[in-house]
Amino acid sequence: MIEFQHVSKAYANDVYALRDVSLSIGDGELVFLAGPSGAGKSTLLRMIAGLEKPSSGTVMMNGQNISKLKAGSLPYLRRKLGLILQGQGLLLDRSVLANVMLPMIVVGESVSEAETRARAALDRLNMLDKANASPLALSGGEQQRVAIARAIVNRPQIILADEPSAYLDRDNTIIVINALKAFQRSGVTCIISSHDEQFLDQANRVIYLSKGEVKDSWTSSVSSTNS
Ligand code: ADP
Ligand code: ADP
Repeated sequence: MIEFQHVSKAYANDVYALRDVSLSIGDGELVFLAGPSGAGKSTLLRMIAGLEKPSSGTVMMNGQNISKLKAGSLPYLRRKLGLILQGQGLLLDRSVLANVMLPMIVVGESVSEAETRARAALDRLNMLDKANASPLALSGGEQQRVAIARAIVNRPQIILADEPSAYLDRDNTIIVINALKAFQRSGVTCIISSHDEQFLDQANRVIYLSKGEVKDSWTSSVSSTNS
């Protein structure tokens, strides 16, 4: 369970990225953050990941105030999260497989276990045949699918995806949507920012942000379990 209580984020020049945001997201929900560019979507996602601190208000995760976490505790928080954030590209000096293995190696998993899980994760995204390729040899859509495999390889409880369909064509967008829905069906909370209508159609919950404020929040009657 994620809870924002009167969260604001102000920057030095008095720009508010978020203004008095209160919301809660239950375990296993598939939530879309909608709204125009500059609305505060990235800031909200980065706060859940502990990458930004609120100027005021609190962000709770499973009863813990994550804005008060010491730097040393952040790695434990991050292990629960699969992050697909802007500007976190693949490492170009190693193979697709090595990229996806990396989060497991970082937490001290054995190389053989990391490889097994990385291959399974790539298989889920239909990218196993490119395991040995360089990321440079992949299309934008393929790179995004590898980034998702890397985000889910540690079996996170929560997936945070910032505009995961940016620069993707329709077919690749559908692959990405279906992959995220499949994770939600297996109990993972998914929070996805997008202004893509195709995503909104699949939402069982939409939170609409504008100028840093929650303007609307609705729960869809459309079941997210049909794919
Ligand atoms: P979105 O993801 O919806 O496009 P962002 O969360 O990236 O929105 O940005 C929300 C607002 O906060 C924007 O007006 C943006 O310019 C501003 N902003 C974001 N990061 C910074 C920063 N580091 N310094 C100053 N302003 C920022
Ligand atoms: P396996 O369970 O044999 O690893 P799966 O096809 O069930 O294979 O999963 C593929 C990969 O997706 C897993 O290795 C795992 O790292 C990742 N994954 C992330 N979250 C989940 C989840 N909730 N359920 C199953 N797999 C998940």
